[in-house]
Amino acid sequence: MSRFWSPLVHTLQPYVPGEQPARRDLVKLNTNENPYGPSPRALAAIAEAAGDGLRLYPDPTALALRAAIAATAGLAPDEVFVGNGSDEVLAHAFAGLLKHDGPLLFPDISYSFYPTYCRLFGIDGETVPLDAAMRVRVADYRRRCGAIILANPNAPTGIALPRAEIETLLADHPDRVVVIDEAYVDFGGESAVPLVPRFPNLLVVQTLSKSRSLAGLRVGVALGQRPLIEALERMKDSFNSYPLDRLALAGALAAWQDRDWFEAHRDKVVATRGRLAAALGTLGFEVLPSSANFVFARHPARPGAQLAAGLRERGILVRHFAKPRIEDWLRISIGTDADCDRLLEALKGLTS
Ligand code: PMP
Repeated sequence: MSRFWSPLVHTLQPYVPGEQPARRDLVKLNTNENPYGPSPRALAAIAEAAGDGLRLYPDPTALALRAAIAATAGLAPDEVFVGNGSDEVLAHAFAGLLKHDGPLLFPDISYSFYPTYCRLFGIDGETVPLDAAMRVRVADYRRRCGAIILANPNAPTGIALPRAEIETLLADHPDRVVVIDEAYVDFGGESAVPLVPRFPNLLVVQTLSKSRSLAGLRVGVALGQRPLIEALERMKDSFNSYPLDRLALAGALAAWQDRDWFEAHRDKVVATRGRLAAALGTLGFEVLPSSANFVFARHPARPGAQLAAGLRERGILVRHFAKPRIEDWLRISIGTDADCDRLLEALKGLTS
């Protein structure tokens, strides 16, 4: 607390990201990073961009990257927006598109940055409970609101809604913006991007942090029709003209174009997820059906906090949320097969 703060600062409840430990010897399964290094083509492009050119500002419109993403999505480049991680893209969406008369609806269990942005931007956020199976029920959103945001697959549950359900939600709210946060969609979800041409109220947000293994580069994406994208551009150009630096622009473009790397490593993560979920089941865990690069699991007899602390003592980090409804659950990122074997060995000791 300081008397020098602007009044708003006193009201903020900042998001607390998962631990980034200084020690390198930990098995790090706590922030849903990709366990494999990024595409070699992305690394080569970044190395090439790390030269004299850095004295010049980057392209403020990120046109080459937006055009590449648009081409894959079957959209025009000006229907694509990029920012410094999808967190920044989401921040612009909250400020520029989600503050209206009527509450912004999102699930009670979802990405905990959403309530943080609501406070920052003075948005009235209202949570809608997941059902008893921890699923989003689209019918529960049929109520008065100013806008809606859903993560699909949801985090930290990992459960995905089929595209048809998203379509129902969009049709239910033709005059409200619906943001679908697809940070984890590449690991098994159905993207809402094909709905963009038909729904002017849809904004889809994606990231290169997870399935492209570029969390350290900070590149996020939004796809939508012109009026929504224009709102994001107006926000960006009132905040920071150059959210993506030259290294990020070069690396992201090369990563986006390396389809073979993307598919091979996505498949590896999905295969390890299947193995891990089955093995956790054998240890007595309840595991939610995941379409993401993490699983959400609880043990019937061991509290989540106790398991997370026990794992940490054994050099393994997972994410535990001390929050109602999910305090007994662990969110475990999919590591390499070897990471998962170490995790399972430790859990065997902690649960027997
Ligand atoms: N949305 C969701 C649901 C997430 O879990 C995350 C990662 N913490 C993000 C968005 C932000 O990812 P990034 O800023 O790395 O793109």
